[in-house]
Amino acid sequence: MYILAQMEIANNPLLSSSTHPSVFVAHGSGPYDNTRRVLESVELSPVRGKRVLLKPNVGRVASPGSGIVTHPEVVAAAIDVFREAGAEVAVGESPIVGVDVQEAFEAAGMKAVADKRDCPLIDMDRRPCVKVSVPEGKVIHSLKVCPEVMEFDFVVSIPVMKRHMHTGATLAVKNMKGCLWRRSKVELHMLPALAGSTDKPLNIAIADMSSVLRPDLAIIDGTVGMEGLGPSAGRPKSLDAVVVGADAFAADAVACQLMGTAAEQIPHLRLGAERGYGVIDLDRLDVTPNDWRDAASPFAAPPENLTIEFPNITVTDQNSCSACQSTLILFLSRYKDRIFDYFPSQGKIHIAIGKNETELPEGTLLVGNCTANHRDKGIFVPGCPPVGSQILAALTDHKHDQNEEK
Ligand code: SF4
Repeated sequence: MYILAQMEIANNPLLSSSTHPSVFVAHGSGPYDNTRRVLESVELSPVRGKRVLLKPNVGRVASPGSGIVTHPEVVAAAIDVFREAGAEVAVGESPIVGVDVQEAFEAAGMKAVADKRDCPLIDMDRRPCVKVSVPEGKVIHSLKVCPEVMEFDFVVSIPVMKRHMHTGATLAVKNMKGCLWRRSKVELHMLPALAGSTDKPLNIAIADMSSVLRPDLAIIDGTVGMEGLGPSAGRPKSLDAVVVGADAFAADAVACQLMGTAAEQIPHLRLGAERGYGVIDLDRLDVTPNDWRDAASPFAAPPENLTIEFPNITVTDQNSCSACQSTLILFLSRYKDRIFDYFPSQGKIHIAIGKNETELPEGTLLVGNCTANHRDKGIFVPGCPPVGSQILAALTDHKHDQNEEK
């Protein structure tokens, strides 16, 4: 039983103007100095005597510089600057399903910088959630939120700059999804389409989320970002830049430009800006320094056609949700060379996800509970969504059965 809380987006004292927000860019001095430089441009006196929660992206077990997780030196600089401004600081994360957050903190180098500064690292999933209503929601009407978000005075979103296979980009607005409690994050990937809308329900859900869950400050880590198949199967991309803004939409819009795209092309940013949750129109932003665009370097977009990325693998996808798509794409990225070992007599592999009504070829790899009605014809991997290790286990069993039959 949860208490349904109302979450007010109060006036943000760090925001100098909501109509013409300021954004600051630093480039070329490494993660620690870039971050210090941009934060020194922000008037931080409102945080004196307050509690500040830093929310980096440490949702996966990955090393610094991989482009998957926020660089620890960006967080180190944020801890130092907020403390110097008189705040009490902690770092928190709620990782993706199946990830041990302590392991993720350690691998990302976050534990080392926090321990050195005696700064608390919080597993935001360890306590019960707060259920928050989303009155302006189109596809979600309540959210299970980690309690720290309600308890701290300021929340700072510190994402790593990435392209994203489902949402186009993942930056400060979307990074707040890591404040959703435990498995409830996945629910945003499993929503039905909204009647009359051509936008993916995931993108509408992120805009819905940002109506109640917006950071007070965005620090976007572009030290090493990720291009292509983000959030974790793309290629690392060095930029050596950090972007800061109290309007997360505005900071995201500048980061999009640095990645060679426009915020208007990123559906959750367009939708949120249309609803007035922030400004993405560059003509209305006050960006410092004037030559900030010199830091730009295009990030390759996620591929639209997976067959180019994974030749000889045909994916039949009918009405799947992005949770199963993510599992499959990550699995293929990791095992694309080895997977053919499990199908020694086949030059092509068929894989199905979602609620397929049509006939599938004999021997299809069936990923997820939605494919269960075809299980007699193929290799079935249960789960909603399954994880990569379950796909590997099903393939190993299949190979074992084939060897037994010989
Ligand atoms: S099995 Fe996959 S496609 Fe089906 S509901 Fe679950 S996550 Fe979505």
